[in-house]
Amino acid sequence: MTEKIHHAVIFADHPPNEEQKSRFMTFLRREYGPNVTLNWEKEHIPKGFRLVVDEEDFYDWSLDGRLRQLKSSLKELRGEGSNVIPLIRETVRNWKPKVMVEELGTVSSAGDGIATVTGLDHVVYGEILLFANGVRGMVQDLREYETGCILFDEDGDICQGSPVWRTEKTAGVPVGEDMIGRVVNSLGAPIDGKGEISVRHTRPIENPAPGIIDRRSVFRPMQTGILAIDSMFPIGCGQRELIIGDRQTGKTAIAIDTILNQKDKDVICIYVSIGQKASAVAQLAQNLRDQGAMDYTIIVHASASDPAPLQYIAPYAGCAIGEYFMELGKDVLIVYDDLSKHAVAYRTLSLLLGRSPGREAYPGDVFYLHSRLLERSAQLSDEKGGGSMTALPIVETQAGDVSAYIPTNIISITDGQIFLESNLFFAGQRPAVNVGLSVSRVGGDAQTKAMKKAAGAIRLDLAQYREMEVFTQFASDLDDSTKAQLVYGQGLMRLLRQDQSHPLKQYEQVILLCAALDHALTVVPIDKINGFARDLLAYFSENHRTLCDRIEQSGTLKDEDREEIVQAARQLAVQTAAERGW
Ligand code: ATP
Ligand code: MG
Repeated sequence: MTEKIHHAVIFADHPPNEEQKSRFMTFLRREYGPNVTLNWEKEHIPKGFRLVVDEEDFYDWSLDGRLRQLKSSLKELRGEGSNVIPLIRETVRNWKPKVMVEELGTVSSAGDGIATVTGLDHVVYGEILLFANGVRGMVQDLREYETGCILFDEDGDICQGSPVWRTEKTAGVPVGEDMIGRVVNSLGAPIDGKGEISVRHTRPIENPAPGIIDRRSVFRPMQTGILAIDSMFPIGCGQRELIIGDRQTGKTAIAIDTILNQKDKDVICIYVSIGQKASAVAQLAQNLRDQGAMDYTIIVHASASDPAPLQYIAPYAGCAIGEYFMELGKDVLIVYDDLSKHAVAYRTLSLLLGRSPGREAYPGDVFYLHSRLLERSAQLSDEKGGGSMTALPIVETQAGDVSAYIPTNIISITDGQIFLESNLFFAGQRPAVNVGLSVSRVGGDAQTKAMKKAAGAIRLDLAQYREMEVFTQFASDLDDSTKAQLVYGQGLMRLLRQDQSHPLKQYEQVILLCAALDHALTVVPIDKINGFARDLLAYFSENHRTLCDRIEQSGTLKDEDREEIVQAARQLAVQTAAERGW
């Protein structure tokens, strides 16, 4: 059965424009269903129109018509109950103005991302203030007669005398699942051009760290996929491991490789970039996207050109986003790249706020700046859901000086450091981990049994090698056993070289370590070790699949498995050496 078509006619002075037409159509479709036609007929109607549908229904929206309607409804009101008017009178008579507290302050100076405000007597530290042009700021300095405030946007047209309102709220960021895969700024707003993020929760950016009762000690590994780190400086879920080194020594590369290695491991990664070039971060996001790592990663970005206040709050915002997931019982990995630039942004703010400078011109509370951030990483107890947040803060040193102010502070806060050295980096030893100066204070408890057993004495062997290394210059005068030890040490160092974006799985690391530490690779020339390692892994994944799966899934290494690895590796090494004439 076909539905009836309704014909509507508008009588008006002028034809309706497109927008008016679509509004009419919406109304008509709602009232009469989808089959409606609409036409216009000219008629002189001052200020309004009349709408006639099917020559039956009549909607009068002319001036006269509206007045008529008003009059009739007034009549109705009077007729309906004579007590309406006295009631209104009564209400008006009894009306008392309500006193509402609204503190209004005045800007006394503004510039460089800072404003000083007078007249806000009850404002609290960390409160958000609203300026006349819509810019928000956060109270950072409470003085006797005025308040220092950092601005979250360009100061633009904030000038002396313009008004400021209190909001009685502290700074917060939106948090939620929908942020995964996105690039946001320090305030949680998307900056990747992929549209709005729909989130229902916000969290304060500053939050007290979980207490002792709410934590348990680190007990699960957070694998980086980097042989040099997982074998010697294992990191556990909930640990804070510093990555420290000069500029361009592969600090970011280690953090990014760790993120890449979390694929399919149900870990949410957050990369907080502070004071870096926007182009570098765009490249990095693209890189993560290409490798499928953006499916579980959030990037919080405060670029070098952002105002110092935004750079200052970026890590706290990232941490708040991470805490949301941690409290849901998930594992989170957060990278702060880097905290030296963060400290510099804070120094800028503090100096502008007029705080007295201390060592290296940093303010007195710069230790608290980072300790309160890094303390928020934790392995929560089972009662609290068992979630964890592992932090990888990055610090840049100047000419390898780890005793500068910020590096020493952060070394003392974290549970260990991976020290990257430019000399090693330039010598081609990448990742340039300095085995002597790096340490992981708690991760050993979290290392899987298989890794612990396989890695065995690698640190000791490398320490011995480093001591003997000085003798390499006298190579011709050395006895055979020393020579063999040197070759073994060099081989180990070579084995620890690893290409960027090629994280190794646990079983792969176990195989390499078992083979190398059992001196099975001594027949391979030093410069062929990395190539041979690749062949060895390919050989194992093809011919010893069940062994590989067993190690990967159980995290243990039986004695017979170890024996099997060593035998097979030795055999392959000898065979390859014979084939290639090594
Ligand atoms: P910056 O101080 O500029 O932040 P950084 O210390 O973070 O530098 P990266 O940007 O990670 O260093 O790396 C510097 C360069 O070294 C990059 O070009 C990177 O591709 C290269 N690199 C890093 N790690 C490796 C590696 N394992 N193998 C080969 N190249 C590497
Ligand atoms: Mg970097």
